[in-house]
Amino acid sequence: MNSPAHSPALESALERRRIRLRGLVQGVGFRPHVYRCAARLGITGSVHNGPEGVVIEAQGVRLDDFVQLLQREAPPLARIDSLIQAPMALGQGSGFEILETAPGAASGAAIPADTAICDACLGELFDPGNRRYLHPFIACCDCGPRFTMTRRLPYDRANTSMADFALCQACHAEYTDPASRRFHAEPVACHDCGPRLSGDIDDLASALGAGRIVAIKGLGGYHLACNARDHTAVENLRQRKLRDGKPFAVMVLNTASAARHVQLDATAAAALASPERPVVVLPAPGLPETGDPPPLSPALSPGLDTLGLMLPYTAIHYLLFYALLGKPPGRQWLDEANELVLVMTSANISGDPLLIDAGEAQRRLAGIADLVLHHDREIAARADDSVLRVTPGASTIIRRARGYTPHAISLAKDGPRVLALGAHLKSTVAMTRGDLAYISQHVGDLDTPAAVAFHAETAAALQAMLQARPQLLACDWNNDFASTRLAEQLSASLDLPLVRVQHHHAHAGAVLAEHGREAPALAVTLDGHGTGSNGESWGGELLLVDGGSFERLGHFAPLALPGGDAAAREPWRMAAGVLQQLGRGDEIAVRFASQPLAPALAQLLATGAAPVTTAAGRLFDAAAGLLGVCDRASFEGEPPMRLEGLARQPLALRNGYTLATGVLDFSPLLARLADCREPALGADWLHGTLVEAVTEWVAAAALLSGVDTVALCGGCFLNAHLAREIPARLQQRGLQVLAATAMPPNDGAISLGQAWVAQRSPRQH
Ligand SMILES: [Zn+2]
Ligand SMILES: [Zn+2]
Ligand SMILES: [Zn+2]
Repeated sequence: MNSPAHSPALESALERRRIRLRGLVQGVGFRPHVYRCAARLGITGSVHNGPEGVVIEAQGVRLDDFVQLLQREAPPLARIDSLIQAPMALGQGSGFEILETAPGAASGAAIPADTAICDACLGELFDPGNRRYLHPFIACCDCGPRFTMTRRLPYDRANTSMADFALCQACHAEYTDPASRRFHAEPVACHDCGPRLSGDIDDLASALGAGRIVAIKGLGGYHLACNARDHTAVENLRQRKLRDGKPFAVMVLNTASAARHVQLDATAAAALASPERPVVVLPAPGLPETGDPPPLSPALSPGLDTLGLMLPYTAIHYLLFYALLGKPPGRQWLDEANELVLVMTSANISGDPLLIDAGEAQRRLAGIADLVLHHDREIAARADDSVLRVTPGASTIIRRARGYTPHAISLAKDGPRVLALGAHLKSTVAMTRGDLAYISQHVGDLDTPAAVAFHAETAAALQAMLQARPQLLACDWNNDFASTRLAEQLSASLDLPLVRVQHHHAHAGAVLAEHGREAPALAVTLDGHGTGSNGESWGGELLLVDGGSFERLGHFAPLALPGGDAAAREPWRMAAGVLQQLGRGDEIAVRFASQPLAPALAQLLATGAAPVTTAAGRLFDAAAGLLGVCDRASFEGEPPMRLEGLARQPLALRNGYTLATGVLDFSPLLARLADCREPALGADWLHGTLVEAVTEWVAAAALLSGVDTVALCGGCFLNAHLAREIPARLQQRGLQVLAATAMPPNDGAISLGQAWVAQRSPRQH
């Protein structure tokens, strides 16, 4: 490098570095970004995808500027978690090269998540002069399907379902041009070479207008859709889908339209419009709408004061709104409020996973949808819409799937590779590699053979994605879970140790994992049933968690669970159990006269033979039954959701609970609820008393144990009152509060928690 052309000053400044970047830097247009930065600053060298991220070799005189530019102008979907530089010996070569990914070099880090259509593509979609005008599969480096179309690694077009569509010349030119927004954008397509719809979007729009139910193939599955203002259509959909009261999500064109139906602050608006495009559950004040257009059907979310909304995220969605609005010119209509509200609910039937196969979808949707719009791009991986709850001051993930999967959670340290099989409800699978934990998309409840099969496929897919074998397996203490049985089978066939993790220990582990907390911490789990010691039913627990071990410091006083699982679906049974415990068993048959089994249940309770539970979820059920808010739940979580909807000004009852040796007893509260004639007032007492009691409970344990950090976990923390008030009170007491943010507080996070606990457990067979 002693070229006479270089001045001595320049030559001394000329240097070469290896720069490694980790984070979301693959499949997001990062390599062309590096190329463009290099071109601007006259840097030579190369960039390629390595197993853990992007690797750059850069040579020039302005390398510090280069590194700054890389970060400052990173592509919209990129996230740089770390950047490490090391000096190298100067090299030859004049240009800057984008090197192909070496086979075997790619890994899980390389599959990005699906992303909503970007502004640039949306502009082209409605630009009559663009060659992709109205193309339903328009995409680029910054947007489009990713995870849901990936068949295998490395993430290259040949390994995605876009492999079925050979690029035309024009698309190929863009795909191979580093200056193009479509350089190596794997879903790139156009009218000439891309996937095709099976029908016409105009027909779909007409059917919706005529009150029909339609099915639409999307990124990770099919949606069922109808006009949300057409009460008959919504009722029909509910009936045909056999879904009873479970709320339906709706789609509106933009945030301006959303603001007509829900309380929308800046946080909520940002969540709605985020590239992940989750369903966002928001407070719906339910203002009476009159006249034209008709109000939203009350059957969308019966009895609840919330509404789940999402914005369009594919070109097909936008084309549908375009057709429904009469094909307005220009782009202004995209931001203007309008009256259109479409039900957009996942087409999963009778507890089975999402339909993805066209033939099966056609067959199984025949009795539900009047019209099905297919397309010929295969769905390689199922993914439901993700669901987020946003309330003033809190944003919580309810379901983590499309848009988030397969992004990893960073752990505080390396550990053995664990494959964790999750729980039974809202199941997910997790696998760790190095200091990252990969959590599968939401698999769902493992109640049907199809769901159990999907769960096993997901476990296999995760190992394939990470191109690694686990060293350790983890599962729940409950031997009846399909997830536990799969773990046992894998343990035998792979000859790997299996760590069984208590359900609420796993809940706590998930929160501690997310926050990188290694020191002992208190954990409050307000949850549904989880198997405890000696087969007990736990779920209102105060644990002291120290990595792989825990101590049970306290729990809710046990409530009778007459009929076991049936009691979890029929709050009147929990209420009957409470009446018996209060010495008022003679009221059971009278109060629940509409329940044919009430007299028999009263007899059973009188013998004291019913099992018991400490689950906080069942305390809510008992309250719902006593207040007459909900005798039978039509979906999991309905009774607490209804109580939450009723509560306005949570108010702690004086002497509403007792606390002795760690046992929190709500009998005084329950006695008051049994005599309360105003459900809303009862709901206020329930929430207020719970908040105060849990605060005192934790504060006392913190004082005794000397541990001042507390993790909050369990499905009850989806309750907005508890999620807001309990952390605020505990912080006032000087405690450090850790809550679920990147993961859901419910059983969707159990797999992550199991993996975290297993890594810290003394190994066992
Ligand atoms: Zn785009
Ligand atoms: Zn093309
Ligand atoms: Zn749980």
